[in-house]
Amino acid sequence: MGVFSKKEDDATKMLKKALSLELDGQYQDAIDILNKAILIEPKNQAIWISEVRIYEKLGFKDVAKEIIEKGLATYPNSGFLWELKGDWDFKGGEIQESILSFDKSLTIDPNNAPLWIKKSNAYIILEKYQETLEALNVCISIDPRNLDALSRKLLCFNKLGNYQEIIKMIDDALSENPKEPTLWCEKGYCLYKLGRKHESNKALENACFLNPNISKVYLEKGISLYNKKIYQSAIETFEIGLLLDPNNWIIWYHKGLCHLCLDQNKDAIDIFEKGLLIHPKSADLWARKGFSLINTNQFQEAYEALDISLSINPNNEIARREIEIVTIALENMGIKPGSWDPIIHLDKEDPIKHPYSQSNIMNVKNNDKNKSGTIPPLNTELSTLKRDKNKETRVTCKTCGHVYCYNNLDVMNNITKKIDNTARFFGSLANSPIGGRKSEDTIDYKRCQKCGSRNIISEIIYFD
Ligand SMILES: [Zn+2]
Repeated sequence: MGVFSKKEDDATKMLKKALSLELDGQYQDAIDILNKAILIEPKNQAIWISEVRIYEKLGFKDVAKEIIEKGLATYPNSGFLWELKGDWDFKGGEIQESILSFDKSLTIDPNNAPLWIKKSNAYIILEKYQETLEALNVCISIDPRNLDALSRKLLCFNKLGNYQEIIKMIDDALSENPKEPTLWCEKGYCLYKLGRKHESNKALENACFLNPNISKVYLEKGISLYNKKIYQSAIETFEIGLLLDPNNWIIWYHKGLCHLCLDQNKDAIDIFEKGLLIHPKSADLWARKGFSLINTNQFQEAYEALDISLSINPNNEIARREIEIVTIALENMGIKPGSWDPIIHLDKEDPIKHPYSQSNIMNVKNNDKNKSGTIPPLNTELSTLKRDKNKETRVTCKTCGHVYCYNNLDVMNNITKKIDNTARFFGSLANSPIGGRKSEDTIDYKRCQKCGSRNIISEIIYFD
């Protein structure tokens, strides 16, 4: 006789059988067995979770959601089910709700370190950094070398402008590795941000002594962050490069590009002008300055900048392209002001205010149906269920004609990746033990995914 009771033994066997049926694609049979297993052992979390997974896989998301709720009604002390509910809330952009679900799960199992990270992600999205830090500290108390927690802590300190705490973390790393030039650079950067210029210079001198080419390292690192669309981190990296080598116009140029991508056109103009003080004969700097001026509707000035760019290099592609736009704009001046602004903005990439979470007629109808409280009976026939209508955002690029779609899940995944990437950047800011991890590609939904143009139209579509 085993340690399992007869009942548990039966339910576990049925679960195994259901899993193998699921693998064979025999979903209805799998669900039938799971439903029987639930009746035998309603407090087996794995059974509920398997059933949710199958419905989700088949596209019956509303049913899956209701199974989670039914599971929680039957077994409210299931940490797994609460975590699963939190995941669903999070993926659906219901961040506040996800925190409540995660909390329920954490009350049941407070030592779930990865769940504390999930909770911290939710707080980061809500920009509640103090709460984020509290969650992270619990995680670190469970798992002191948790890299996700340590790097997110640096992210928070940076967002809060708490460079003092970052310096503490860097000093810890320096005590283990005093000859690492990047640590000295980053310490110098934090000291500079705190206005402690003299100490900052000393730290930067240390770095240059250890590696005379260190500014190049920051230029390259910044460019790679820029290519991965992690613009804010790229800007900070270029700022370190500029502290080391303020006369490097190439760093100014790339920092300006980051500001452009963040729609910070005035900052961009300012940065390109600083670059031009160092290298007044850069056709690229003049072209980008012209481009930024167009974005702020300063067409006369834009024309002049683009004209200078072309006088230096008649083949500068950006200048050639933009000067046509400006010429038309100037011709139309006074007749249709603003018509030359080609940018149709998507909603800000804010998960909570994203078009998905806006209420709409379709949603209201669905909710009404659900409010009648019809949780599907456990012996649901798959063939009688209706798949949920899917909602996507369809984007049409007016520049190249490319059409593509993305959905809520894509947006949330992208946001989570961004948090991870930013946290990883700060991980490398304090270097060991968090540094050196590769970042993941993220998507800029405000641009065409093919040609990069911001001249796009987005609309919400529904399909079966
Ligand atoms: Zn395009």
